[in-house]
Amino acid sequence: MNPYVNVLFLLLFFLGGPVQSSGKQADFPEDFDRLVEFHGHICPGLAKGYLAVQVAQRHLQDGKASGEAITPIVEGQRCGLDAIQFLLKESSPFGNTLGNRGKGLVVLDYGKDVWIFIRDRDQKALRVVLKPGTFDHIFKTAPDADEYNTLSRKIKGKKANEQERRQFLALKKQKTAQMLLVPEDKAFNLRWLDKKDTDTLKASLPKPGKSGGRIQCVMCREEVFEQYTRVKNGRELCIPCFNELTW
Ligand SMILES: [Zn+2]
Ligand SMILES: [Zn+2]
Repeated sequence: MNPYVNVLFLLLFFLGGPVQSSGKQADFPEDFDRLVEFHGHICPGLAKGYLAVQVAQRHLQDGKASGEAITPIVEGQRCGLDAIQFLLKESSPFGNTLGNRGKGLVVLDYGKDVWIFIRDRDQKALRVVLKPGTFDHIFKTAPDADEYNTLSRKIKGKKANEQERRQFLALKKQKTAQMLLVPEDKAFNLRWLDKKDTDTLKASLPKPGKSGGRIQCVMCREEVFEQYTRVKNGRELCIPCFNELTW
């Protein structure tokens, strides 16, 4: 092959490949494709969560997907949370999903790209923090960043046409694929937590209420777990009735 063509291909590879609206799409790892299916769309948030799970698997599970039970504590409730649930759901005897609240996964609404992974066997815990500006080279300073951000604003403002939507999706796929290539030391600050830290952390976590018994709300007559009732004028009500919300 002509050496110039070779260099061009290499360059395109490192830039994440050209955006093509002809159907050629970025190649993702197979489990990322399945994660996208679960989440409903491709997005940078998923890539962040995916990378964080890889860190946990590398340091706490010897790289295996479900070798060791891990309890994740997630400090944000955005798209990346689905990556934690989907990829670590089998890394717990109960399932690290929101539906298993109180037994595995803990979700804190702090709005941070921070994850704590605790290995059940020895309580070894790793706090994984996304470094500020990690993806600036993809979303801020890349030659196509302006185009991406302009299209993104148009789409959010519902002003994009079909062609622009396709172009944005292609760029988003390409950029998400580039995110997945960022190495661990460039993406994250890691800190091992000692037992004192994890004990303090666990003590600070909101305690999920016990299921307890169910009672009937005196207003809507619907059943509700006892610990979710509120008392108003001596009457035990469900939360929507207490807040006078009806639908
Ligand atoms: Zn998303
Ligand atoms: Zn009610």
